Amino acid sequence: MGKLKNKVILVTGASRGIGKGCVTKLLSEKASVIATDRDEALLEESHREWIVKFGKRIRIQFLDIASETDWIEVMSDIEANEGLLHGLVNNAGIVNLKPLEEMSLEEFKETQDVNLTGTFIGTKLAVDIMRRKNNAKGSIVNISSISGQTGTLNCGAYSASKGGVRMLSKAIALEVGAKREFIRINSVHPGVIMTPMQTERAGNDEELWEGIRKSIPLGRLGKPEDVANAVTYLLSDLSDFMTGAELTVDGGMRIALSGGQYND
Ligand code: NAD
Repeated sequence: MGKLKNKVILVTGASRGIGKGCVTKLLSEKASVIATDRDEALLEESHREWIVKFGKRIRIQFLDIASETDWIEVMSDIEANEGLLHGLVNNAGIVNLKPLEEMSLEEFKETQDVNLTGTFIGTKLAVDIMRRKNNAKGSIVNISSISGQTGTLNCGAYSASKGGVRMLSKAIALEVGAKREFIRINSVHPGVIMTPMQTERAGNDEELWEGIRKSIPLGRLGKPEDVANAVTYLLSDLSDFMTGAELTVDGGMRIALSGGQYND
């Protein structure tokens, strides 16, 4: 408890799944969290749960990460109200599972606009505010995927976007490091984590879930808290010698599959 005491941290895609799990964990570590999402109704609903659990309101704000205008507004509000930013979790993302011949150009572009461009805009503006308001210090955690490390079958657009997030993180880590700034940028690569993103596409297909579970060396599916723990570590001072690194949170699935063909 208290690993993130008094740190001002922005989380995107916070109303459900991994983002919601991250907000819950960061609040339990005493961070001052700004929770954002493009689904305002669901964000309000999650906010009510956080109020019950932690006994206080937090800052919640509408943010469509593909919109630079939205990002500028949110960052300006943070600067006006909090004065600075210590951490950013670029978590919001979408998945589009289709083979090449069924994937339209529009769908491909939408996936890049949200997952990759959204992460780029957030990273750029967070580095800017950290430079000006926090002595060029801070931690940015970009949620990629094991699909961004190996590529996943029938998942070209998503894999490309997540591979982009992985390399963007490393390149910007080098760039700020070259200036001897202490803004750390790392990526997290979840395997199969039980969130609405997964359940909406695979439903209650017991056989499918059992097959996935069997392909995971640690023998269970992931939970949002598993990812939130890695994110907390990267945001905290415990990881202050880490930048440009990647943490894989998948129960060993990636090494076991070496190619990730579970959704065949
Ligand atoms: P989810 O679909 O359950 O939740 C995603 C959240 O992001 C939702 O609240 C949604 O409203 C929000 N969102 C989507 N597009 C947005 C946008 N343009 N602007 C703002 N908010 C937006 O997904 P999840 O499983 O919690 O995934 C979170 C992140 O983790 C994603 O980047 C995803 O690619 C990544 N990931 C998830 C898994 C998994 O197995 N669940 C595995 C690897 C990586």
